[in-house]
Amino acid sequence: MYAEEVAAMAGRIRDEDIALVRERTAIADVISEVVTLKSAGGGNLKGLCPFHDEKSPSFNVSPARNVFYCFGCGVGGDAIKFLMDAEHLSFVESVERLAARAGIQLRYVEDDRSAPRPRPQQGQRQRLVAAHAAAVEFYRAQLTTAGARPAREFLAGRGFDRAAAERYGCGFAPDGWDLLTKHLRQQGFSHDELVTAGLSRPARSGSLIDRFRRRLMWPIRDITGDVIGFGARKLFDDDDGPKYLNTPETPIYKKSHVLYGIDQAKREIAKQGKVVVVEGYTDVMACHLADVPTAVATCGTAFGGDHISVLRRVLFDSDERAGEIIFTFDGDAAGQKAALRAFEDDQRFVGRTFIAVSPDNMDPCELRLAKGDLAVRDLVARREPLVDFALRHVINRFDLDTVDGRVEAMRRAAPLVAKIKDREKRPEYVRKLAGDLGMEIEPVQRAVLAAAHGQPAAGTPASAPTRRGPATPSVDSPRSMVEREALKLALQEPVLAGPMFDAVEAGDYQHPVHVAVRAAVAAAGGASGATGGAVWIEQVRDACDDLASQALVGELAVEPLRIDGEPDPRYVSVTMARLQWSSVTGRIRDLKSKIQRINPVSNKDEYFALFGELLSLEQHARALREQAAGGL
Ligand SMILES: [Zn+2]
Repeated sequence: MYAEEVAAMAGRIRDEDIALVRERTAIADVISEVVTLKSAGGGNLKGLCPFHDEKSPSFNVSPARNVFYCFGCGVGGDAIKFLMDAEHLSFVESVERLAARAGIQLRYVEDDRSAPRPRPQQGQRQRLVAAHAAAVEFYRAQLTTAGARPAREFLAGRGFDRAAAERYGCGFAPDGWDLLTKHLRQQGFSHDELVTAGLSRPARSGSLIDRFRRRLMWPIRDITGDVIGFGARKLFDDDDGPKYLNTPETPIYKKSHVLYGIDQAKREIAKQGKVVVVEGYTDVMACHLADVPTAVATCGTAFGGDHISVLRRVLFDSDERAGEIIFTFDGDAAGQKAALRAFEDDQRFVGRTFIAVSPDNMDPCELRLAKGDLAVRDLVARREPLVDFALRHVINRFDLDTVDGRVEAMRRAAPLVAKIKDREKRPEYVRKLAGDLGMEIEPVQRAVLAAAHGQPAAGTPASAPTRRGPATPSVDSPRSMVEREALKLALQEPVLAGPMFDAVEAGDYQHPVHVAVRAAVAAAGGASGATGGAVWIEQVRDACDDLASQALVGELAVEPLRIDGEPDPRYVSVTMARLQWSSVTGRIRDLKSKIQRINPVSNKDEYFALFGELLSLEQHARALREQAAGGL
């Protein structure tokens, strides 16, 4: 498609101009606007790929050859191709953007087959960005007029002087139906362009009117600094609109991706390896001015997965250096809910998430006004891990002075601890939770293990998870043999095999009766804590909820292991790896078939998300295959 487009466009922009744009563009500069790059040796640079979700960098840039290439997803090309893919631009739009950057005046050749155009037709994105740039100037000039007095008072009342207002491009949308619309129409922007940009909208009469009126305006920029939308705050009591009004979804403004302040904050975010997420435009300004230059805010939407992706690339969030994401909340229910929701999102991200709640429930802007810049820096410095915050939040709802209250609090808190992906941290949190509840460690540990395996909290009999797929696999298939071997290890050698056995979830077993026994082991408290012997076998049998699995426990407790001599940790590791490998390869098959059914052009985001998942699963499968090969 790229080559065809190049050919088709060759008649529009002169070939030698395109060549000049390529020559004068430093690809590393263009890419580092979006992706934080580090040295990869040999003069090359690397970063986290913006086209697929990854944890360690496989996205490479060669400044010498002026190209990029991702070893993870196979995307590669020159700077023009990068902009096309990263910013969803057409070929012409990309060349125009790079030409403007390099100060090159493009010359267009007329297509012989069509009538000469009065002026070169720019790409849509560039037109919409140009309309926004003109709107910023218009609103800015309005801020000094008499009618804008309430806007100036609002800013002054929040502690922002003229210099601050200028730095953030604050402006005023005047009182009038179509002042901006007329101004932009005079500058040559079409009816359709203004509607598509979200700056104007058609009135009932059919004529165009301004979207924003009598409001304080904040230009919202993308990561490269282009203005792509506005946030508008209500100033007058008789304005019956919402307190904040934002640009609607447009071809250039996607609220799920937009982070206010990211253009000014990105370099510090990359340098400090942390980002502070606040709730409003004034909070971003207050933080930056108080020397917390890493602050950004979402615009009219909750913080979500797309925002994480944007930040991860800037943070260079890989194993070698973990990025920290700090949320500040003014302690209200909505903010806390948003923080707790992070548990539902990316688990990798949870471990690096911190919460900073102001003691007096003030937002950073209020805090700076009341107590000064230092108080804002203190707020961020006093952050606490999300897990601690969430546990406290859950526990506080119960009366811990009663047994019922403590047990209920434990049941609600256990799933949160069970969700901590970093298993090494779990015991630490089990101890902490037990301490906070004033309970023994053991029941808390059981509740957490039960929650980890999707079981109801301790006390209720466990039922076997239902399996998908109509066919029951045969008991003597190689896969079933591995599953039996794993269960035998858990029953016969819990001290040796316990931790590795417990770490592999019931979902990795295929045969229904094996799934049931696996669940019974979890319900009996897990193999990790067991000392073995007849008591342990009895505990697992008691936890079984059907006769078939009870009988199998008795059988597996005495069946010899398929190894000559004593089992050792390597044998356990190989067995568990073989077990997981079958399940992972099954998931890879499912994922591949799903990816094939997706149109990568119209569902680009989903496609790349699934592709990223596939790559990490394949990596996992490779690691398991190596582990499974060890010794057999
Ligand atoms: Zn990639």
